[in-house]
Amino acid sequence: MSTSNGGSPGAALDPPASLDHLVVTRWITELDHRLRAAEAYLTELDAAIGDADHGANMTRGARAALTAIAEEATTEAARLVAAVGHALSRSIGGASGPLYGTWFTALGRRLPDAPADPTALAAALTAGLDAVQQLGAAELGDKTMVDALAPAATAAHEAARAGAGLAGTLRLAVAAAEDGALATVPLRARKGRASYLGARSEGHQDPGATSAVIVLDALRAAAEV
Ligand code: ADP
Ligand code: MG
Repeated sequence: MSTSNGGSPGAALDPPASLDHLVVTRWITELDHRLRAAEAYLTELDAAIGDADHGANMTRGARAALTAIAEEATTEAARLVAAVGHALSRSIGGASGPLYGTWFTALGRRLPDAPADPTALAAALTAGLDAVQQLGAAELGDKTMVDALAPAATAAHEAARAGAGLAGTLRLAVAAAEDGALATVPLRARKGRASYLGARSEGHQDPGATSAVIVLDALRAAAEV
């Protein structure tokens, strides 16, 4: 019996092997749910070392991203991801809007026209990271979203090289991002609003690194269906 197409009962349970437009649509839908659930927590984190708007910024962005992909009549994953980037740049205020907008836009530019395999996804995650660093000039350890996005990209490359599938690659990327976000707690912020606090920014988890874990984990969930 064939298990290689959707006609077999078993095939429906196989997770997608590549990042196609269906995975992207599930990603952004999942992201919207998760950001709503985490809004108060992200607000609380930003209240401690910022201006308490990160939760609202992110949920506003997710809503705009959902609208953008609904309006984008395409089955190209790369174009959908780029459309999300443009929507985020337009809709999220604050530092994180342009940064997440740039991350998604660079990801979309780097993804191939055809559905992306783990190696192509890892390359896109690196392109997204590079674009964020070019815009925000944050290095690893500056207590920003880079502290989650950078280890995630590295872990994705390692996983893809070791032959992991799409979901396996994303599981390892998310685990690395989680470790990176937790590691921001003792750090002193050197970029963004939190840097104005100097030593008083120590002892708090960075909101943007925390939301970056949510962004990546929503993609992981979308790839595990
Ligand atoms: P704002 O700081 O303008 O209120 P948000 O609260 O939405 O914007 O986002 C704050 C998050 O943005 C921080 O927790 C940090 O992770 C991220 N951030 C701020 N500045 C930079 C930067 N230069 N590079 C990367 N990330 C940054
Ligand atoms: Mg803020």
